[in-house]
Amino acid sequence: MRGAAIERTTTVVIGAGHAGLAASHFLSDRSIDHIVLERGEVANSWRRERWDSLRLLTPNWQSRLPGLRYEGPDPDGYMTVGEVTEFIERFAAASRAPVRTGVNVTSVRRADDGYQVTTASGDIRCQAVVIASGACNQPSVPQFRDGVPASVEQLTTFDYRDPAKLPDGGVLVVGASATGVQLAAELQRSGRPVTLSVGEHVRLPRTYRGRDVLWWMDASGLWDQRYDEVDDLTRARRLPSPQLVGTPERTTLDLNALTSMGVELVGRWAAVRDGRALFSGGLRNVFSLADLKLGRLLDTFDEWAGTHGPDGEADPPERFAPTRVPSSARLQLDLASGEIRAIVWATGFRPDYGWLDVPAVDAKGQLRHEGGVVADSPGLYALGLPVLRRRKSTFIYGIEDDAREVIGHLAGYLAGRR
Ligand SMILES: Cc1cc2nc3c(=O)[nH]c(=O)nc-3n(C[C@H](O)[C@H](O)[C@H](O)COP(=O)(O)OP(=O)(O)OC[C@H]3O[C@@H](n4cnc5c(N)ncnc54)[C@H](O)[C@@H]3O)c2cc1C
Repeated sequence: MRGAAIERTTTVVIGAGHAGLAASHFLSDRSIDHIVLERGEVANSWRRERWDSLRLLTPNWQSRLPGLRYEGPDPDGYMTVGEVTEFIERFAAASRAPVRTGVNVTSVRRADDGYQVTTASGDIRCQAVVIASGACNQPSVPQFRDGVPASVEQLTTFDYRDPAKLPDGGVLVVGASATGVQLAAELQRSGRPVTLSVGEHVRLPRTYRGRDVLWWMDASGLWDQRYDEVDDLTRARRLPSPQLVGTPERTTLDLNALTSMGVELVGRWAAVRDGRALFSGGLRNVFSLADLKLGRLLDTFDEWAGTHGPDGEADPPERFAPTRVPSSARLQLDLASGEIRAIVWATGFRPDYGWLDVPAVDAKGQLRHEGGVVADSPGLYALGLPVLRRRKSTFIYGIEDDAREVIGHLAGYLAGRR
């Protein structure tokens, strides 16, 4: 019997989402020999892990990758999931990324001269590895879900596709960030009475002074802020996604909009006791904090507009009505009463490094890294994580600068070994 030969390459990139493909683009630019391993297909997360009605919350003009930008007729529109998939596929083709699909990486460990990457189709030895396997591999759901009565159907955002998948009757959506507010609105529109459990959140209007709010984030330089300039990096990396939806009408989807649609707001879900969901009080404080932060952000935009920006061209500054506090928010809900037939957990995501046999993951399951350079592991890099090098790091348009710099570091590391 012949032993399987170990393949060798200089760099292995794990994941063919936009981050892994951007890494490949800059590796090719520098003529660094590499392969991209993808367990599914190119843009796998967009194909398998998103719901049907999802559109990007970033406008089309912001959909840009190294050497590729949106050139269609609707720069202010928002791509559907199918269009994002097609956009990323186009990027893979244009940059001739050496992607191997259907190859699951089951282990990465140190080997004498670098790393050994194990897959079902064999082992690969390399000098450097770029982890671009995504920041949102698994839904993050609190443990107390186990206490929910079996009569209530539970879904994560990975299971949810459209309202028809849910039984008729009341739905409790947990989490009021981008995903939670979008699903609450969709389910309420489907005729199901929705209760939304709200914790800390980021409130944003869709447009401000006549322009997309993300235009202001971009133009004022806020999303370009670097990780080493951010005051509280740990907090910035945990910040929930903003309450935004991409619709042709450019509608704002904040809590006031949901209340007007008939969605009932309750506090943060804290525990389950005897089949009852217990919610925190203090919604007023949670709302005022989000309103306060929104006000501060708009002040920043106005200041910037006054000194550098288009003050004369933009509409005048505006301020938004405070979030309306329900007159008596319920503090508990009997989950066995039949009022709630389904729960949708929109409580965020976490990465999965179960395959990483290098001691680089902290107790909270996050990779320890400095701007994408993994701690104490020479030659190991990461891309696509929150505020990796800039506030915009996880966004499609944020990858170009990060990938250029991370691959620049990697090239320096390889040169130093020679
Ligand atoms: C619901 C949602 C909405 C979003 N909306 C926007 C938006 O509007 N605008 C925007 O700019 N960004 C948005 N993002 C953020 C970001 O663009 C996406 O999360 C994007 O998918 C991240 O790209 P990535 O390449 O870092 O990771 P992914 O797209 O997740 O790619 C990682 C790839 O690695 C593969 N992989 C993982 N583990 C392994 C393994 N062990 N072996 C082999 N392959 C592996 C996966 O199959 C996957 O294809 C959104 C994210 C989510 C979750």
